[in-house]
Amino acid sequence: MRLLMVEDEKYMVEAVAQVLKKNNYSIDLAYNGEDGLDCGLSGIYDIIILDIMLPKMDGISVLKELRKNGIETPVILLTARGETEDKVRGLDSGADDYLAKPFHTDELLARLRALGRRKTELVNDGILKYGDIKLNPHTLQLECGSKEIVLTLKESQLLELLIKRKGMIVSKENIIVKLWGYDTDAEDNRVEIHVSLLRKKLAQLDSDVYIHTIRGAGYILKTIRDGQ
Ligand code: CA
Repeated sequence: MRLLMVEDEKYMVEAVAQVLKKNNYSIDLAYNGEDGLDCGLSGIYDIIILDIMLPKMDGISVLKELRKNGIETPVILLTARGETEDKVRGLDSGADDYLAKPFHTDELLARLRALGRRKTELVNDGILKYGDIKLNPHTLQLECGSKEIVLTLKESQLLELLIKRKGMIVSKENIIVKLWGYDTDAEDNRVEIHVSLLRKKLAQLDSDVYIHTIRGAGYILKTIRDGQ
């Protein structure tokens, strides 16, 4: 699980981050709304913990902007205690849960576990569909019509990312972070290799879906029907 926490109270963020790391979460931090939005738009997080009172851009605006851009990452909003209006506004804007400050880290951990479970239930069997293909990220099986093929874990993760961000360009940097994490020396050519392998498998399945390269920007998933 990769988390993003957006909160400007550094002493609090760092204390929470320590506890989360001890509980095997990977966590990235952003200290203002604009940076938080940039990170969130990468689409690489499983859950975003978002404070409402933030410098540069408030949490509700960040949340609205994320949802407008098709980012469905579950969001836990941090609200000031007693601010019922904030909670309502937050939930209306697409938040999945909220937590009143100050909170105990045990409470945050419980919320994270609950949200993780709910997410799994929501996606049901977890099958991702795009055009004529169906991907099961748990079994790594990729289906097209009556044909089926098994992907490698990296190919499956790459295709999952492209499907989830369909219609949007996914940069090589995003792919590297999602597949190998931030602490990596993975380079662009590793992305190119996996893209090329995935393209071969899509061709093997005679799928209408293909990975279009946007030079200098990244990749975008398309189907032949989109034209190009
Ligand atoms: Ca704050």
